[in-house]
Amino acid sequence: MNITRITAIPLSYRLPEGKTVTMGVGSTLKRDAIIVRVDTSEGLVGYGESHPGRSPGAIVSHIHNTLAPMLVGMSATDVVGTWQRVHRMQFSSHGLGAGAAMALSGIDMALWDIRGKAANMPLYELLGGSHKRLPAYAGGIALGYQPEQSLAEEAQSYIEQGYRAIKLRLGDNVKDDIKRSLHVRKAIGDDIDILTDANTAYTIAQARRVLPVLADIHAGWLEEPFACNDFASYREAAKITPLVPLAAGENHFMRFEFAQMLEAGAVQVWQPDLSKTGGITEAIRIAALASAFRIPINPHSSATGLNHAASLHFLAATENSGYFEACVSQFNPFRDMFGPTFSIGKDGCVEPPSGPGLGVEVDESIFKDFPVIDGPGYVVKF
Ligand SMILES: [Mg+2]
Repeated sequence: MNITRITAIPLSYRLPEGKTVTMGVGSTLKRDAIIVRVDTSEGLVGYGESHPGRSPGAIVSHIHNTLAPMLVGMSATDVVGTWQRVHRMQFSSHGLGAGAAMALSGIDMALWDIRGKAANMPLYELLGGSHKRLPAYAGGIALGYQPEQSLAEEAQSYIEQGYRAIKLRLGDNVKDDIKRSLHVRKAIGDDIDILTDANTAYTIAQARRVLPVLADIHAGWLEEPFACNDFASYREAAKITPLVPLAAGENHFMRFEFAQMLEAGAVQVWQPDLSKTGGITEAIRIAALASAFRIPINPHSSATGLNHAASLHFLAATENSGYFEACVSQFNPFRDMFGPTFSIGKDGCVEPPSGPGLGVEVDESIFKDFPVIDGPGYVVKF
């Protein structure tokens, strides 16, 4: 069974006027997503998701014009070989690096979908896992910068749905970040896990002031206080308190960057995104590397049900699995456009889909509702 065609479909959705969510990466204007379809000589079709990297047209062009010609004709089950070819041609020398990793990720996810469909097995089973309940937190583009009262109400609404963990957006300014964190902890009580994410917006001086407060409210982690490769700051911040682990990984590509993070010795929670980091094939390797150091894997989960499903299967087959990031964004029509891929239970847990492959039925007729919109998805104040 060979790969006969690779197609990437870019999608966009503009948020309604006045409905932006503001966080450390800026204020959202629109959501973008890229669906990757792989056709095979046996007629089996697989789907995956590539992160758009704030430049959906560029990733789609890279898939069509560079990666597809490289991979068409290869065995559709050869996820190691396809990974290796793209790595050799796009990473080793004169390639696109992170852009290529995002493009490859969608293809790799589609190939795993095909592998599961060919074996008539849900992906978690093919990966060696089982159908199990997985702890989830309320994440995605939600719980942004807003008055404490409305933030606590939003948090409460997720807890009422069943979530036992939520993620607050920090990186606004020290004073408001501290005020919001203390208020939400007081409002929701001590039994809910509060995770925090600064989306790379902190300086080390700001982290020094915020981390002791996060220790006081028993925050589960502080995610991406600094830019992805600013290892010196991560190392410094890890000395401030042993009580709040630092988390990162959604902006780290391929296991080699995770190995650098390991060498820096400052990030205790890893968050590879299956639609960015080099696909499921590479995420398995990253998880194995992490497991040897007792580092939990909490994948970042992006936009559509395809990546959500892939993350659930992956977590159900990973020994050192942490939370599933459940996208609770109010304005993300991509999450459920193929039908919901997860539902939160009263125990705060979700389950992987049980159909073959990713277990997602893709109806392509919906794509016409979301024509791609060029331009950045966020605006940032500098
Ligand atoms: Mg994040």
